[in-house]
Amino acid sequence: MRALITGGAGFIGSHLTQLLLDRGDHVVVIDDLSTGRHDNVAAFEGNPRFRLLVDTVLNQDLVDQTMRDVDVVFHLASAVGVRLIIDQPVTTIRTIVEGTRVVFDLARRYRKRIVLTSSSEVYGKGSKVPFSDQDDIVLGPTCTRRWLYASAKMLDEFLALAHWHETRLPVVVVRLFNTVGPRQTGQYGMVLPRFVQQALAGEPLSVYGDGEQTRCFCHVRDAAEALDKLVQTPEAQGKVVNIGSSQEVSICGLAQRVIELAQSSSVIERIPYDKAYVEGFEDMRRRVPDLSLAHRLIGYAPTRDLDQIIHSTLDYWRKR
Ligand code: UDP
Repeated sequence: MRALITGGAGFIGSHLTQLLLDRGDHVVVIDDLSTGRHDNVAAFEGNPRFRLLVDTVLNQDLVDQTMRDVDVVFHLASAVGVRLIIDQPVTTIRTIVEGTRVVFDLARRYRKRIVLTSSSEVYGKGSKVPFSDQDDIVLGPTCTRRWLYASAKMLDEFLALAHWHETRLPVVVVRLFNTVGPRQTGQYGMVLPRFVQQALAGEPLSVYGDGEQTRCFCHVRDAAEALDKLVQTPEAQGKVVNIGSSQEVSICGLAQRVIELAQSSSVIERIPYDKAYVEGFEDMRRRVPDLSLAHRLIGYAPTRDLDQIIHSTLDYWRKR
């Protein structure tokens, strides 16, 4: 298989690149290295089946030339992390909306199988447990910048499904829930790499709010394997599929477990949301995926539990 991975030098993209190269596929990555890092793919550069193009997906000519020669497209290029989205709202909207328009226009021209990676953020502040693709979506007001990410990603999903509807473009939309593991940086606010680095440095773990909000953390390798299976599954086309884990943990519970497994002397420090982010910041209390569709389509079930996830993240940061 020859694959184009936009955002392939990012955290999730680089694991997908590795998975495909390991089984003998050819991979072209387009990544502007804005949040992706050369370091994530440096090890692949000697591989004749790998090519890195450092450019943006807004470069239509480049995406055009690249897309002609591949069999499948994984569109992962996006803005990442709540912190970055709040700090760079214009760039976030441009990358997500305009970048996806370019990629889908060309996928339509060349009739390529394509996966759009979306996010559990799309479920907004809905309170249903678990979240299923058929649920209503509840977002906050437009003056709360956090919600622009969900809105932009929703527009991407509408566009992808519109292409499926109008021309039967073989597209699968995947909503990823709190994907974590080696290579993820804490720079954009993600909780696990931040906790792991804090624990290893013996610093206090920064728990935002009361710490009773919960998340389900999924190992990036499980997510990458699911993306690969879904692009090869015709029944998944035209569908919105949740990928994540159903092992729910409170953020305070996560902090405690990281401290235990790191054998760290760190303590937990609670920080109010308005200090951690901005005044009026809204967080979700629970975020649990309904994984039944993914299970039906590709037999999906996460294979790594929370302790394994924390261990692999600790190993990664210890080596650095
Ligand atoms: N969080 C935290 N401390 C941090 C970073 C994040 O307590 O240093 C919290 C954050 O407020 C949220 C949860 O951890 O409730 C997960 O945050 P993340 O940004 O990783 O993902 P989200 O689910 O918000 O997209």
